[in-house]
Amino acid sequence: MNTTQAPLTPRTTTRWTSTHTIGDAITPASGTSMPPYRGRQCPRIRDVNAPDKLFAHAVYPLHRRLRAWPYGSRLTLLALTLLLTTFRTPAQDIRIHSHNDYLRTVPFYQAYAQQVASIEADVWAVATTDDLLVAHERSGLADTLTLDEAYIRPLVNLFKRNNGRAWRNSDKTLSLLIDLKTPVHPTLDRLANALKRYPAVFDPAVNPMAVRVIVSGVPPNEETLDNTPAFISFDGTLVDYTPAQRERIAMISLDFGNYSQWNGKGSPVAAEREKLEAAIAQVHALGKPIRFWGTPDGITAWNTFYTLGVDYINTDAPEDCAAYFRHFHKKNYMIMDDSLPPTSSKKEERIDDVAHAKRLDRTTAGFHGFRRNALQLSKDIDIYRPTYRNDGAATTVKNVILLIGDGMGLAQVCAADAVNHGLSLLQLKHVGLVNTTAEDAFTTDSAAAGSALATGKKHHNRHIAVSADGHINPSLTDLFYDNGYACGVVTLGNIADATPAAFYGHALDRDNSDAITAFLRDGKLTLLNGSGMATLTDRFDNLDLVAALQPRYTFLSSVDDIAQTDGKVICIDERMDDAATEASLPLLADATRAAVQKLAAAGRGKGFFLMVEGAKIDYAGHANSLPGSILETLSFDLAVAEALRFADSNGETLVIVTADHETGGLTLVDGNQAAGLITAHYMTDDHTPIRVPLFAYGPHAGAFGGTYENTQLFHIIKEVTGIK
Ligand SMILES: [Zn+2]
Repeated sequence: MNTTQAPLTPRTTTRWTSTHTIGDAITPASGTSMPPYRGRQCPRIRDVNAPDKLFAHAVYPLHRRLRAWPYGSRLTLLALTLLLTTFRTPAQDIRIHSHNDYLRTVPFYQAYAQQVASIEADVWAVATTDDLLVAHERSGLADTLTLDEAYIRPLVNLFKRNNGRAWRNSDKTLSLLIDLKTPVHPTLDRLANALKRYPAVFDPAVNPMAVRVIVSGVPPNEETLDNTPAFISFDGTLVDYTPAQRERIAMISLDFGNYSQWNGKGSPVAAEREKLEAAIAQVHALGKPIRFWGTPDGITAWNTFYTLGVDYINTDAPEDCAAYFRHFHKKNYMIMDDSLPPTSSKKEERIDDVAHAKRLDRTTAGFHGFRRNALQLSKDIDIYRPTYRNDGAATTVKNVILLIGDGMGLAQVCAADAVNHGLSLLQLKHVGLVNTTAEDAFTTDSAAAGSALATGKKHHNRHIAVSADGHINPSLTDLFYDNGYACGVVTLGNIADATPAAFYGHALDRDNSDAITAFLRDGKLTLLNGSGMATLTDRFDNLDLVAALQPRYTFLSSVDDIAQTDGKVICIDERMDDAATEASLPLLADATRAAVQKLAAAGRGKGFFLMVEGAKIDYAGHANSLPGSILETLSFDLAVAEALRFADSNGETLVIVTADHETGGLTLVDGNQAAGLITAHYMTDDHTPIRVPLFAYGPHAGAFGGTYENTQLFHIIKEVTGIK
């Protein structure tokens, strides 16, 4: 729609037969009536037929329920719409409208390649040619394409190639919105004649997959209705249509400027938002899809229109808009109680339903991915509220529990916090910011990052606690063991992956799991727990490592057996390789509790050092799966709670919670605090160099405040424990 030029037939209010306010029209029956609308009087549609009422009823009970939630601020359609679309496979529901499409660098094809729902072109009938010309302004007509060149012929060719549909592998249909810039005669006649030649492409009565042609700027009045072929429908507005007219309306397009002055940054002011909601409800009550034109354009605007329930997202940037909404179920998350419908009733998982990471390393390559249907939680996890016993006190540190959320940046923490209405780890008062840069790269991998935390020295990427010139750098495990402490490593992932590896092994390459695991023969670990038995048994070095370890270690296959098994334990529990689900969410916490019990009872005279890793927060970042990230972070938070519980009972335990690096470049776009809803966006499928947060608890926790390199952690731990 041209926003600067008056439409051919102005959309005046003269034909409106009723002038109730919008506020009147959809005041919900929840007691929270909207304030009266004080602006321009808008029409109210009077004849709402039965199917439309059904639709309205399907929407309102949820809306009311959300409004009734006791969180102070009244919830808006935002949560409602996301709830509904979560159940409706968002990818199919999001319809993008390529506004003024002929202004793209490559008209038609840029939008077509994104499988947008609708493409818009303004057409002009001029005397010099029988063709219709495509242009924004009259001044642009001298040098422009014809409708035939720009849209009709490309579509005819594509339909031929795609066996009678717009896209070969898609059931989506394409709409072509044609805005008539010159009088109906001859513009509409020329359009009808041009399209009539290809009924298999433009007539849904001939081909159900045909392009839907919608004319804009012309009302479906007595004259046009009769003279327009049935395959052409009309772009409507909010006026009272007769049933015959209504039948020919394909969508309702409204001038955004009549409802809001919003610039697309932040959020619309409440009064304007309510006007928008009312207009959307009015159009939906007609059983028609809605589009606003003259809209702000950008991520915040697209997301806001989507959450408001606008059917066609109007944009001049169809590629960016499509990228934003692509895999949208992986960018939204909310915990829902089971009184709501299940996440999916479909038997078959689509390819898109399992989020894999393509860049995992050798030890993590077998990971099965995050299955969409397994990532829903029915209720918040419990938050542990610490007693702050000896928190920050200058008293003895006997035990150290270091919990590393692999790939857990501040955004991952904030997303999990928002959906869960709190986290145990955010109860901690001593906070630091850690720089993760590697020795040879600004952006670290998990090997260099884990090695820096473990040894206090910067490392090259891929090195596991080995210097650039090949010297072994002793880790915290090496030091604590030599000082008479019991040591343990627990990971919710493969035991030979980079982070756990840095706390017991040494290798020039992280993928050399043979070299890494061979260090287990030193026997410095009282407990090793994680997944990946194959790293011990399927080896290139022909070493029978299990036989070599058996004299010293009891091998277990379940976390549940750790605490009651005497002596040193290697527990390979393959459940720890799977993505967290609601049922398995406490697995890392169970392992942490068992590890603490075992190490505390190990009786090496001093205390213990335990490293616990939440490994798959990183996998979720690589896979760009927000639901996966949230479940893995909550699973990690339960382990943090276990550590804090022990620290409170013990009084001499220092708990440190941090990350090795951030993964995914996760950005939080929007959310709803009360509903626990988060919408997020990943900018990469790899690590980013942004600093990560650190939280400390217990004696000497204050020593971890401030901003420092990841190598510093090692030195502070040495200092506060007094190990040499
Ligand atoms: Zn990592």
